Amino acid sequence: MIDLTGKVAIVTGGSRGIGRAIVLRLAQQGADIAFMDRGSPEVAAQTRADVEALGRRAIFFAGDVTDPESCAAFVQTALDAYGKVDILVNNAGITRDNLVMRMGIDEWKSVLEVNLFGAFYCTKAVLRPMLRARAGRIINMSSVSGQAGQAGQANYSSSKAGLIGLTKAVAREVASRGITANAVAPGFIVTELTKDLPEELQEAIRKQTPLGHFGTVDDIANAVAFLASDEAGYITGQVLGVDGGLVMM
Ligand code: NAP
Repeated sequence: MIDLTGKVAIVTGGSRGIGRAIVLRLAQQGADIAFMDRGSPEVAAQTRADVEALGRRAIFFAGDVTDPESCAAFVQTALDAYGKVDILVNNAGITRDNLVMRMGIDEWKSVLEVNLFGAFYCTKAVLRPMLRARAGRIINMSSVSGQAGQAGQANYSSSKAGLIGLTKAVAREVASRGITANAVAPGFIVTELTKDLPEELQEAIRKQTPLGHFGTVDDIANAVAFLASDEAGYITGQVLGVDGGLVMM
């Protein structure tokens, strides 16, 4: 049984989608939670109430991961409230799909800034307290698009491949201090991000997926909970595919 009792987890993009499932799963396993996104206060309030209903403490921090000061303030808020941060999940992510030929510089930049720069800012903010504690878990939300590339997603695929590089570099830098860094690479998961994919594309994805169906947010939350646990203490610098077998490396 994964036991996160007494741990503090902070999650970016935690109000909805995969992030919300991660927040609830880590809380179910015993962790107190802080989560951050730019989203609607009502959606965040619901997630916060759901964590509290599980008997855990929850803080919502309204912020933007593209702003380094916002990331630092998010981490500081958790430190002030809980005294430590044991687990960071860099989950916030966006897509702005287009073919490279048509992709505007803004579409390129905005995706890199949220998905990759945001993870760097939050990692940087959390490392000092984790180094002092000589313990920590950093989990980055990559994607099969970062492993295999995806047409129409040069920006997204680059950001998610970049996250794998960030994960491995950080893992090497901090391993001697008892901190692990790993990435999770989801396949196609049913969320707001994927619900508007054309039906023909959804069918093609199902056909290419050995397990034959889309994943759920709970499939991803389960993998994150494991990587956050003491049981995963000898795993670092790895990319855990949770994709129904879509990408086998
Ligand atoms: P989602 O439902 O669109 O949720 C994304 C979350 O990120 C929201 O809470 C969003 O909140 C937050 N976010 C976006 N921009 C932000 C910013 N600048 N600052 C702070 N928070 C921000 O997406 P999802 O499907 O759950 O995806 C979660 C993660 O999994 C992403 O990194 C995504 O790339 C990855 N992933 C998803 C799939 C899939 O099939 N769904 C597959 C592979 C990987 P606000 O917009 O309100 O700020």
